[in-house]
Amino acid sequence: MKRVGAHVSAAGGVEHAPENAHKIGAKAFALFTKNQRQWFSRPLTPTNIDSFKNNVAKFGYSFDHILPHDSYLINLGHPEKEPLEKSRKAFLDEMQRCEQLGIGMLNFHPGSHLKKISPDESIRRIAESINMVLDKTKGVTAVIENTAGQGTNLGYRFEHLAAIIHYVEDKNRVGICFDTCHAFVAGYNIKTREGFEATWHEFDEIIGLKYLKGMHLNDAKKPLGSKVDRHESIGMGEIGADTFKWIMNDPRFEEMPLILETPNEDIWAEEIALLYGFAES
Ligand SMILES: [Zn+2]
Ligand SMILES: [Zn+2]
Repeated sequence: MKRVGAHVSAAGGVEHAPENAHKIGAKAFALFTKNQRQWFSRPLTPTNIDSFKNNVAKFGYSFDHILPHDSYLINLGHPEKEPLEKSRKAFLDEMQRCEQLGIGMLNFHPGSHLKKISPDESIRRIAESINMVLDKTKGVTAVIENTAGQGTNLGYRFEHLAAIIHYVEDKNRVGICFDTCHAFVAGYNIKTREGFEATWHEFDEIIGLKYLKGMHLNDAKKPLGSKVDRHESIGMGEIGADTFKWIMNDPRFEEMPLILETPNEDIWAEEIALLYGFAES
């Protein structure tokens, strides 16, 4: 079945996320395991960890359907030594938090070259960062998200993602999270049936569908190819509802977290119900 959820709040502790997901009828969820706007947070306590695991079970979730997102501060392709090391240290901390919580995936944006090194060089650094962190952790897959291509952010072309995977040593622990808004504003026209099929054909050719571990379901405020990352509620943006109907009826996207990051969290429950309604039609 399809596992639709949202990026829910973990305010007051990660252990609250499963209940927040349950309240909106989610069958999957995303969360931050620490404050996403700070470099480092207090370690998780045994109480945090135990309550999180208990609540995952209590509210009927599987650890396979939880896709945490890392901090926005991390840049694994940073051109400068010190910030790169800081990013790697913070990313390792996030992966270890996932390990402690029993979560098998961590979703992150690849990184930015900041016009100080070439995109290729930055891509190699990203892969090197992933290799370093995978070496120091067990059982957690590094899930790279495609980006909108704002500024100097890499990862807006499937070729970037494929290149990163190419340089990652343990291919069993690297994957992709496909964000619909990011893909669309990056120039992948998933709005038309033809464009949708062409995009997934390209994804499979260039990256390989076996690397797809999850999706972010977001409509887009800005037009195709604009490279401006502004999420919109499902059916209310430039992409439109049809694309999400195709996703909900596509066997390629079974049993993976399909996560809403849409701006109006007051209607997440309705959006989830709307999406499940598409699946029945
Ligand atoms: Zn993201
Ligand atoms: Zn996203």
